Amino acid sequence: MSLLDTRAAEHLCFNEPLIFEISGGGRQGFALPAIDVPERPLAEMVPGGRLRETLEGFPEVSEVQVMRHYTRLSTWNYNIEAGMYPLGSCTMKYNPRVNEQMARLKGFATAHPLQEEEVSQGCLEVIDELQKALLVITGLQAVTLHPVAGAHGELTAILMICAYHQSNGSARKVMLVPDSAHGTNPASAAYAGYEVVTLRSNERGCVDLQELDRLMTDMVAGVMLTIPNTLGIFEENIREVSRLVHDRGGLIYMDGANMNALVGLVRPGEMGVDALHLNLHKTFSTPHGGGGPGGGAVAVSKTLQPFLPVPVLERSAEADGRLAWREDMPQSIGRIRAFQGNFGVIVRALSYILSCGAPGMREIAEAAIVHANYLRKRLEGTFHLPFAAPHMHEVVLSDRNQASCGVNNIDIAKRLIDFGFHPPTVSFPLIVPGALMIEPTESENREELDQFVQAMLEIDAECRQKPEVLKSAPHRTRRSRFDEATAARKPELRWAP
Ligand SMILES: *Cc1c(COP(=O)(O)O)cnc(C)c1O
Repeated sequence: MSLLDTRAAEHLCFNEPLIFEISGGGRQGFALPAIDVPERPLAEMVPGGRLRETLEGFPEVSEVQVMRHYTRLSTWNYNIEAGMYPLGSCTMKYNPRVNEQMARLKGFATAHPLQEEEVSQGCLEVIDELQKALLVITGLQAVTLHPVAGAHGELTAILMICAYHQSNGSARKVMLVPDSAHGTNPASAAYAGYEVVTLRSNERGCVDLQELDRLMTDMVAGVMLTIPNTLGIFEENIREVSRLVHDRGGLIYMDGANMNALVGLVRPGEMGVDALHLNLHKTFSTPHGGGGPGGGAVAVSKTLQPFLPVPVLERSAEADGRLAWREDMPQSIGRIRAFQGNFGVIVRALSYILSCGAPGMREIAEAAIVHANYLRKRLEGTFHLPFAAPHMHEVVLSDRNQASCGVNNIDIAKRLIDFGFHPPTVSFPLIVPGALMIEPTESENREELDQFVQAMLEIDAECRQKPEVLKSAPHRTRRSRFDEATAARKPELRWAP
């Protein structure tokens, strides 16, 4: 029997209009008792000019209508609680609920960054604890939790590398970035003012040492390595790469967003890494996507420690051991944010690390690697595998075997939706034409992985038998194919009366 009938059968899904279209009849969602104190005009209480005279089109709906409207809308969303979300590079793992409970504790959830340090010691302890845990995990010297996204962490680290070279009176202008790096890497380097030079990968998907030797001049400030890279492959020459780069005065930046493949197994500090960012919201579990709050912690070696952004957390040597923010760091790159990092993400990350414990950290990496390789083994005969080097936490396949039926990676991804799966990442990394980048993460069980394999195999069979079904997929969603370029470039995000 097809998985189409067992896993993702049709279910009740309301044809929900916009809330503005439900609106009417002067309904409202609350009822207050009659006022029994003298009424003051609003204009007296709200400073001049701030009060809106009218509010055109404000929805008039009852509590029941509001509740049902948003509950129905929520059923249109695919989510990690509903099924596997194999979006390569994004690490869409299940987020344990205990993290949410911790982040919602009143003392954490209602803390304010301008609160006196005296009354914020608990929150500061959380930050300190997480910093210590990340130093153990990364094997580096110091860490900042201020950056609020992976790309923000990259920029922070690159600015530190830049400050380091400037402090040595050197004006290195180039950043080397492999063609298998994450797209944010060249963007961050360019944003920090560097000229980005692409480092070609070899046939094993790793840094080509001869190419590095040729490009690594005294104008190169550093090399940005995504490890494992976006092919899901560990940089096997990392020791040689870091030796060569350091010998010629450069620094190694590691994009550690894929750290769920390494936690408990490998400490980047021992590979010669000078700076790395971690995606707290990927590796250490926070619901993410859609631009929600993140955490881009940056860990650095001794060389870069003086350049950390301010404020830096320090424990007093006095008996009370109080924690305090320190601003007087003469070589610091300065503030990278008005306040500190996203505190809720920090609480979740610490909760996740403590609840897994050290053996659990290692199991994360082991399971992430086993799951990706299980999928690779079961799919590699059917789908083309462009790089055969051992994979870590994700595997990149391509649509080459299906292309002769006129089907491409987008069609395959769209058809997966009909089978009840979120599509994998497509057309990335750019060095693989027709890429399907699959990251199952450590969260999945064997049954879910088997169903994903079955869906992929059924889709492959469809390519030969009825490719038109794939070309017009998905068929079971409320809308099918969007004009994605227009949706991204000219989004209409606001309803107007
Ligand atoms: C997700 C990711 C990033 C960027 O992180 P954001 O939080 O989205 O800015 C950078 N590098 C890699 C390898 C990633 O997977």
